Amino acid sequence: MKTIVIVGGGAGGLELATRLGDSMGRKGRARVILVDRSPTHFWKPLLHTVASGKRDPQVFQIEYSAQAAEHGFTFMHAELRSVDRAGQTLELAPCLSDDIGEAPAVRSLGYSTLVLALGAVTNFYGVPGAADNVCTLDNVREAKSFYRRFFGACVRASEGGDSKVNIVIVGGGATGVELAAELGYSARALAKYKIHTLDPARDVRITILERGSRLLPHLPPEQSARAEAYLVSRGIEIRNGTGVTQVDADCVHVTEGDGPETTRPASLTLWAAGVMGPAICTTLGLPLSRMRQIMVKASLQSVDDANVFAIGDCASFVCPVKGAAPPRAQVAHQQAVFLAAALSRREGKPLPEFSYRDYGSLVSLGPVAAVGVLLGGSVGRQLPVSGALANVLYGLMYQKHLMALHGFVRAAAVIVADWLRKRISPSIKLH
Ligand SMILES: Cc1cc2nc3c(=O)[nH]c(=O)nc-3n(C[C@H](O)[C@H](O)[C@H](O)COP(=O)(O)OP(=O)(O)OC[C@H]3O[C@@H](n4cnc5c(N)ncnc54)[C@H](O)[C@@H]3O)c2cc1C
Repeated sequence: MKTIVIVGGGAGGLELATRLGDSMGRKGRARVILVDRSPTHFWKPLLHTVASGKRDPQVFQIEYSAQAAEHGFTFMHAELRSVDRAGQTLELAPCLSDDIGEAPAVRSLGYSTLVLALGAVTNFYGVPGAADNVCTLDNVREAKSFYRRFFGACVRASEGGDSKVNIVIVGGGATGVELAAELGYSARALAKYKIHTLDPARDVRITILERGSRLLPHLPPEQSARAEAYLVSRGIEIRNGTGVTQVDADCVHVTEGDGPETTRPASLTLWAAGVMGPAICTTLGLPLSRMRQIMVKASLQSVDDANVFAIGDCASFVCPVKGAAPPRAQVAHQQAVFLAAALSRREGKPLPEFSYRDYGSLVSLGPVAAVGVLLGGSVGRQLPVSGALANVLYGLMYQKHLMALHGFVRAAAVIVADWLRKRISPSIKLH
């Protein structure tokens, strides 16, 4: 029987494993194995809500083992170390939680088809000091660590003295904007529930530094302006046209336009200025893009190895007409749906060609607002949306992801449970 191994159970990989497990694993048509270094799945577009203390990842995570048992695939909790493409084997380092003891030795796993869905990591673009002095939002551990540091800084600021919370967010794309908006709410919620001597307006300063001329460059200018006006009305400072040249532990060095280099104090700097493929991509001997992503054909096979596929942020898919597919959950989802159907075909049939359809983009501006555009019709007409309606549509993206993993009834139960939880719990993590 053929063995399909998927490495990475994120937005793309877990949906693919679930679909293939249902269509092939359960029917004995293939052995489907999902490998991830984490025991649980958390949908990455919600990481800013963990970093701002709004969402407890333990409540919203999905146990890979449980998903595997219900959907006909096998889960291996391990980290991919290397790939022997000639011998079609992977070298995996099993991961165990601290309380279980020493991890067993590295082991091999054979595959007939390998799908790499490894996601992306933060790109520091070689800026000195960035890798050592900034926080990043690549996974749940980093998001939780950011919140702990934000919480600690708020406690210190509330104790008087000159200490202020200076949050500097580098990058005015979706991640930076979404986090800035949530943190504004978090500071107010902390002052209300826990740190009563904290004055958010006086003690907490949140700044977004963006090298380009406006925030959210992937949206039309008027939507960027809307987002900017909203954030400014919430007390967030925006510095467009500002490049970061160096990061120290307590400040960032910046240049604005043609001006001289200056420094800005920063108690916490979060880097949200771009992503690239993970380091392991460079060890595969496969052609990579400038951003270290695995270059794939329209079938999503590597341009150099028909047994290796790549999807999501670690893949570089360039459509001759529409250009490069962006590193977004929407792309990872569409590629998972496509590949699940393509790999379920009977042997010998030619593989179909993937085509990415852009349905638009929505950016959350906190609990009650969002901004973005929807793309519709055959000519891709743009429909700008903002405010509460956009916020509802933004919420639907996660609900769609739940539906793809759990089916309608279970996803609906999760959504109702979430709604009820919000009504009985404080809006923020308080310890
Ligand atoms: C704060 C934030 C907000 C975002 N908002 C949006 C949004 O609104 N809309 C949108 O479309 N996109 C958004 N994105 C981007 C979106 O999250 C990604 O494009 C999407 O998650 C990519 O899916 P993926 O399957 O490629 O990788 P991921 O979802 O990142 O999953 C990768 C998986 O691979 C595993 N892994 C990695 N390396 C190894 C290894 N060596 N061994 C074993 N396992 C490994 C990881 O543990 C992880 O589970 C946002 C991202 C962030 C950080």
